[in-house]
Amino acid sequence: MVHDIARPVDGTPLVLLIDDCPDVHRLMRARLRHEELELASCMGGRQGLDEAIRRQPALVLLDLDMPDLDGFEVLRALKSHERTMDIPVIILSGVQSSQDKVTAFDLGAVDYITKPFNLTELRVRVRSSLKMHHLVQMLAQRAQIDGLTGLWNRAYFDKRWSDAVAAFERHGRPLSLAMIDLDHFKAINDTYGHPAGDSVLQGLARLLQREPRQEDVACRYGGEEFTLIMPETTPEEARHVCERIRTTLHAITWPRHPERAVTCSVGLAGAATPIELSAAEWLEAADRALYLAKQSGRNCIHTAELSPRLAQAG
Ligand code: GH3
Ligand code: MG
Ligand code: MG
Repeated sequence: MVHDIARPVDGTPLVLLIDDCPDVHRLMRARLRHEELELASCMGGRQGLDEAIRRQPALVLLDLDMPDLDGFEVLRALKSHERTMDIPVIILSGVQSSQDKVTAFDLGAVDYITKPFNLTELRVRVRSSLKMHHLVQMLAQRAQIDGLTGLWNRAYFDKRWSDAVAAFERHGRPLSLAMIDLDHFKAINDTYGHPAGDSVLQGLARLLQREPRQEDVACRYGGEEFTLIMPETTPEEARHVCERIRTTLHAITWPRHPERAVTCSVGLAGAATPIELSAAEWLEAADRALYLAKQSGRNCIHTAELSPRLAQAG
């Protein structure tokens, strides 16, 4: 599984070299100079591990023999950490030991290069590891994108929403969630046909990508239902964002049915201070708010009342 897939797949890949010998760094830098990659250097195992977790390189070149934390220990740690387990690791070793090779592959290394490096071999191995990593990332990203609208899909939402709630619990910063559902959408399909309905879904998706801020995450939850995760956003601020989405959608003239406007209803559940709710309960609160927005005549926003954490209230 690839985790931090919000990171763009394109761009120059970052290669992290972890080796305690300065000569190896000089040599690598010279030999990989013409490759399309950015090379970062770490002189020890512990620092290299921290740097890999922080920067999430596309490839790690890892020396085995280091004084503070040896290569096998670093490899074991990289493969067991959620943020680094999918990063390919090429082992660099001064010795031709088949036992070391077996151990390295058992621990999850993708390749093993013996020093002194053969220039051509080094380049080919680095290139092929980077290419594989790129393809795996691209596939993982595609599997989480909705084909019709290009928004994140339900599977991605589920993971991202529970991460957002966990971060909210840790830091106590505001968080809001909106559930957005098109009004009488079935009638659009029935009257103007499915392709017209699809265009409406795409139109709302474009709005959801354009209107919120960069940090907000818009997803197609399913059918004609969308979710918008708004980190660092109070319910009042979220209401403004949703109000803009609601009025902009209402004002769109649709090429396939200019005579027929499309509206949406929004259920909003947000908190500016800690509350006692799980990710699932929070989602249910937004869903109930959406139901109430539908009940009050549609084309409107209903905000859920979320009670503050008892300890805070008392
Ligand atoms: P309400 O205002 O109560 O939400 O009514 P509604 O008609 O929007 O809701 P309902 O759940 O009755 O209908 C949703 C419709 O959305 C039915 C389904 O065929 C349609 N739909 C779901 N996914 C797609 C899609 O990908 N493309 C198109 N064109 N229609 C879809
Ligand atoms: Mg609907
Ligand atoms: Mg619906």
